[in-house]
Amino acid sequence: MRRLFVANLLVFAVLASAAALAYYGWSYTAEVSSRERMQIEDTMRELADEKIAAIESQLVEADRKVFAAIDIGRLPEVAAEIDRAKAPIVNVFLLDADLQPIPSGYFSKTPDAAEATAFRDRFLSTILPTLPLRVLPLQERGHVHGTWDGQQHLFAFTRKRGPVRDYYIVVETDLAHLTFSVFDQFFVRGSPRLYQVVDENGELIYGEPFRGTEGVEVELPFVETVDKWRLRVAQRDAGSQTARGRRKLIDIVLIGVALAGIVAGLTILLVASRRERRANELKSEFITNVSHELKTPLSIISMFGEMLALGRTRSAEQATEYAEIIWRESVRLARLIDNVLDFAKIERGKDVYEFAEGDVAEVVGRALELSAHRLQKAELEVEVEIDPELPLTLIDANAYTLAVLNLIDNAIKYAAEGKKIIVRVRHDRARDRIVLEVRDFGPGIEAEEHARIFERFYRARAVRLKPIRGSGIGLALVEHIAGAHGGGVGLTSKVGEGTTFSVWIPVRAEPGGAGGERSVV
Ligand code: ADP
Repeated sequence: MRRLFVANLLVFAVLASAAALAYYGWSYTAEVSSRERMQIEDTMRELADEKIAAIESQLVEADRKVFAAIDIGRLPEVAAEIDRAKAPIVNVFLLDADLQPIPSGYFSKTPDAAEATAFRDRFLSTILPTLPLRVLPLQERGHVHGTWDGQQHLFAFTRKRGPVRDYYIVVETDLAHLTFSVFDQFFVRGSPRLYQVVDENGELIYGEPFRGTEGVEVELPFVETVDKWRLRVAQRDAGSQTARGRRKLIDIVLIGVALAGIVAGLTILLVASRRERRANELKSEFITNVSHELKTPLSIISMFGEMLALGRTRSAEQATEYAEIIWRESVRLARLIDNVLDFAKIERGKDVYEFAEGDVAEVVGRALELSAHRLQKAELEVEVEIDPELPLTLIDANAYTLAVLNLIDNAIKYAAEGKKIIVRVRHDRARDRIVLEVRDFGPGIEAEEHARIFERFYRARAVRLKPIRGSGIGLALVEHIAGAHGGGVGLTSKVGEGTTFSVWIPVRAEPGGAGGERSVV
């Protein structure tokens, strides 16, 4: 009981550890893959940050150059200075301290003069009032990125100290130049990463829609210049995504297989140990039964032997009777020992059979002769029906005799009250078999025990309570012997009506061939 509890506890512990291992394995895999993803994300974020900083510093630097080049005191030279600064700008406005345009203070790179004038007017009326110029500290750079009349513009501006009063410079960056050449310079096509610039509505300003990426995306805004735009970076999938997916799948499959293996192993172990326990129980029961069976004839032999030796007999007939008892019991003893020894040999898997051509009828007749005395004592009438045209067949006469003796013994032990047994040997011509039947009219066997009584050490429930001696190996031996002849056993029984055991062997079959089938009705 204690051992069983410990064993169950161990099984539970193994299962729990297996589950824990599987859980840790799984969570480790998940953690590794999420860490990898985070690492990729971090790298991409750093990269996006660097790109934005580089682009913006280039633009801001260009603005500063223009701001530095312009000097209101030398107005006629401003246009030349702007050109020299080589900045990606389209328009420059000079405004006085009251934010009024300074005469000749507008410079445009727009080739069409009428268009340039139209823009200047639009700037002064619509755009300028929205720029936070007045709050700007001296020399500082400010910027506004926005949409006016459905068009995007980026303005950078500064306040400078003039000879009399402060004045303002407003510079408009060339956004077309920015998207068509500056971005291209920074976002090299064919690199392991893909870039996009999108506006505040997510509309694509630069780049192509992402396809074939690893699903990790980073988005960062511009700060110093086009602050309505955002830079998006994605990792091109160079197969590492599928490789990671495959690795994860392999991990899951391995964990699953290991778990299944542990559970299957434990189940097999449990079943095996249960079977072992059951076999051990049956074995110890068997030993008790056999010892009991050995003891009884031995004590009878010893008692009657002692009487004979001490001359405690009243007549010569009585002495003969005692001698007969001793003889009978010793035969019984010998048979029991034969049974046990043969059974032991079979158990050890030794080839114990020796086949020779023989006559089954003769073998059955000899077995009946050997049992005659016991049958007579049990007051059992024996009806024998033997097919006169029985063919010869390969047979181990000793083993076959043992089988017949066991069946007759069982009839004597369990069905004596039926008063009669029928022993039949016939040739089943259709299937070319020799069939032996031992029929009794005893109590019969419960249907659910039909299959079990052929198991070694098994004894029917009904007899376990009765003082009928037995070891439970007789029928197992009968079945084994039939199987060794390439045949099988059969059983028909009805409680209260009697039992018929049959043993069939094929005619001229190769010994040890197919067979071993059992038919239970
Ligand atoms: P044993 O006779 O030593 O118990 P067997 O293997 O010969 O072992 O028989 C197994 C069981 O089958 C018996 O214990 C008995 O319950 C049952 N049995 C065998 N023969 C008969 C029979 N002719 N009638 C009723 N029960 C039988």
